[in-house]
Amino acid sequence: MPKQLFAIFGNPVSHSKSPLMHNLAFKGLGFDGCYNRYRLEEGKRLKETFFALKLKGINITVPHKEAAYKACDLLDPFAQKVGAVNTIVEKEGRLYGYNTDAPGFLKAISEFQEAQKVLFLGAGGTAQATAVILQEAGYEVTILNRSAGRLEKFAQEGFKTATFDTFTPETYDLVINMTSAGLEDENLPCPQTILDAVIPSAKACIDVIYGKETPFLKLAKQQGKPTKDGSDMLLYQGIIAFEHFTDHQFTFEEIKPHMQKAFEL
Ligand code: NDP
Repeated sequence: MPKQLFAIFGNPVSHSKSPLMHNLAFKGLGFDGCYNRYRLEEGKRLKETFFALKLKGINITVPHKEAAYKACDLLDPFAQKVGAVNTIVEKEGRLYGYNTDAPGFLKAISEFQEAQKVLFLGAGGTAQATAVILQEAGYEVTILNRSAGRLEKFAQEGFKTATFDTFTPETYDLVINMTSAGLEDENLPCPQTILDAVIPSAKACIDVIYGKETPFLKLAKQQGKPTKDGSDMLLYQGIIAFEHFTDHQFTFEEIKPHMQKAFEL
């Protein structure tokens, strides 16, 4: 079989760790694959670009996860439900779409075994997919967001929702930053008064942002809470995508030590 080609599509895409993660796993497992990055400007050109580059599979990052969903010929039931695709594999000329961000996140928080009640700060695309998988796994998820617009869909799906003005704090096991606040700025995801009301009774605080300590995690640490950033989520979504790329020839535990090296470099 000729070398199989993979890529990450996004805009911007230069910062992505995915090429390193997947190439380390290809090399470590002896799989004849090569993974590159491609800056895709227009989401509607995703499918033609995929075939023009003769790819076997791609990951998709901001802002094209919805365009990726639309480009697929077949969707797995979870991707279908959440309307966002971050992994596509070509099989006999057809594009199969998956969402591995949400199962990656679910696995990343599995270490907090006692956790049941969760507060999400943020209601964007990542919050949407992860809230659904957590709900399916039996967590009780409340969504708190800066503005009301994105909350409508969550309310329709049976989640408790609030904006900063309408929020009445309760006790939550996990408080999770699902916003991009703190990614390229020093903002907290919500007013500090709200965080001061929910962090003290939480078992842990989690951020989906990785590669830096956000103001949210700094505050949680100051309050003596266990914290976790988004690195494991990134690693685990990558491992699950790799399982799809290689048609499940390797197990999660076989892939992990190779891909994990990308976080040590
Ligand atoms: P979206 O653009 O879809 O949503 C952004 C959300 O953040 C909205 O709820 C928005 O609120 C809120 N928000 C943005 N800035 C602020 C702010 N200053 N204060 C309060 N709320 C704010 O983003 P995504 O869902 O795609 O991504 C969210 C985060 O998840 C990003 O930081 C991204 O890097 C991270 N991520 C991490 C992954 C990993 O593997 N670790 C994988 C995927 C994403 P509003 O509705 O009011 O605008």
